[in-house]
Amino acid sequence: MKVREKLFLGMAALIVFMAVVFLTISQGYVRHLFQQYAMAARQGQVQQWEQLLAYYYVQNDGSWDGVGQFVTAVVSQQLATKKGEPLRFLLLDDQKRVVLSLGVSGNTPDFGSGWQVPVTVGGRTVGTLWVSDRNIQGLTRIEATVLHSMTLATVTGVILTSAAALLMAAGLAKRITEPLQALIAAARRIQGGDLGSRLSIRTRDEFNEVAQAFNDMALQLSKIEETRRHLVADVAHELRTPLTIIQGQLELIQQGVKPAEPETLLPIQDEVMRLARLVGDLHQLSLAEAGRLPLEKHPTDLAALARRIAENFQVEAESKEIALGVEGDDAAVAEVDPHRITQVIVNLVGNALRYTPQGGRIRIGVKTEGSTVCLSVSDTGPGIPPEHIPHIFNRFFRSDEARSREAGGTGLGLAIAKEFVEAHGGRIEVQSRRGVGTTFVVRLPTAADAVKGRGAPTPDAPPGR
Ligand code: ADP
Repeated sequence: MKVREKLFLGMAALIVFMAVVFLTISQGYVRHLFQQYAMAARQGQVQQWEQLLAYYYVQNDGSWDGVGQFVTAVVSQQLATKKGEPLRFLLLDDQKRVVLSLGVSGNTPDFGSGWQVPVTVGGRTVGTLWVSDRNIQGLTRIEATVLHSMTLATVTGVILTSAAALLMAAGLAKRITEPLQALIAAARRIQGGDLGSRLSIRTRDEFNEVAQAFNDMALQLSKIEETRRHLVADVAHELRTPLTIIQGQLELIQQGVKPAEPETLLPIQDEVMRLARLVGDLHQLSLAEAGRLPLEKHPTDLAALARRIAENFQVEAESKEIALGVEGDDAAVAEVDPHRITQVIVNLVGNALRYTPQGGRIRIGVKTEGSTVCLSVSDTGPGIPPEHIPHIFNRFFRSDEARSREAGGTGLGLAIAKEFVEAHGGRIEVQSRRGVGTTFVVRLPTAADAVKGRGAPTPDAPPGR
């Protein structure tokens, strides 16, 4: 059942319930009041009879003789009793003897079910008037007709009001559920691939919040889809070059143009290694991005780790006549996975070596700043153009120079570094000036239980990326 129908049925049930309860209570109350008023009126009438009978008694010289004619002539004419209910009337004298009896069998009425009024003359009780309850209670035909008309008017009013309320409920249910219809339609459009579809709900309620959340989700989805498309295109592009080289080389060997000797196979091996590195990097990156990077964190002396890595890069640095040095704060112990942080440092130092010209300088600095260990890699390379800085941590981003360079990396080094650092709860920043150099700063949380001067384990750093 649709929400709109449920809502309408709920409201309709409420309206019917309220109408029935209102009718029951109001009718019961009105009937009760009406009967009370009617009874009071008839009791007043009986009081009048009492006065008439007292008057008769006085006029008849203190005797009830002939009261029968008087009652038939005067009193019974005034009786307005319930339809079909005969008058039951009894007059007793001061000795409790029956003087007149109308509609009462026997001479000893049950006074418990009647209304009795003493007939007094000058303060003396000369008789007792008794009228049956059934003549006093209940309604006369006119009263019943009036009550019936009132009931009819109330019921008609309630039915008309309920009908109007039901119409309003139907309109309200439609109005309330309209945003839901819009939401369903928009969700269907997104399901159909129209990720640009947005919801516009102008109410000031939860539906508006749902629309906001929906639009945010749609935006996020379209961003993810765009990233996915770029990633597939980038991966395809990155794989194409080495595969083309491998294919070309193998064809030359197959056609006998080149002999299958170690020197001929070397470029093929290079490309295979490049492919393996690319696949490995992509795997690491996807793990980190999905938040599933396994981290074996323990207190690690980052200065010692940096020195170890620098040693491994020393040969390459010397061959390029680049001065590579570490300035370390021995107390810089961070709570990190040393293998992952090794890869971060290796990527940063590898980049610095790649982009710094001959005779340049690379400095790795490690120091503690409050609750973070700050590791920086500075070089005297060409710097990064300001327009490239917002993109350098993106996957496969490479400057044009780096792209054209034969020995250029995969374009994943900084993306991996950023993901790894952030997986440790750290941050990575870059400062660069054209023609002066570049500094990457990595901030990592210090080891909570780091003891000053304690030697932390440092894994063997790989010689390069
Ligand atoms: P790559 O594998 O191309 O080095 P990275 O993700 O490591 O990919 O770097 C992305 C880009 O950032 C590089 O192509 C280069 O343009 C720029 N870059 C990174 N490090 C430096 C640096 N030390 N000096 C100048 N440019 C750099």
